Amino acid sequence: MTSDAPAKTRRRPDPKCPLRPGEPCTLCQYDVHGPEDCPLVYLIMNDPEDREAWAESRRH
Ligand code: SF4
Repeated sequence: MTSDAPAKTRRRPDPKCPLRPGEPCTLCQYDVHGPEDCPLVYLIMNDPEDREAWAESRRH
């Protein structure tokens, strides 16, 4: 696996991405500082159906 880890952030040690269980947040969204202000997390977590669909899609 190649390393695409972002530069170390001092804000939080290794924040996990809620949308990709087991994986750290890679700040893949524009202008986020971590899962706490990630719009995608907000969106998915506030919509159970979306959340399930998302989880399902991650399995394939
Ligand atoms: S920016 Fe959001 S979707 Fe991207 S890795 Fe971090 S928490 Fe996950």
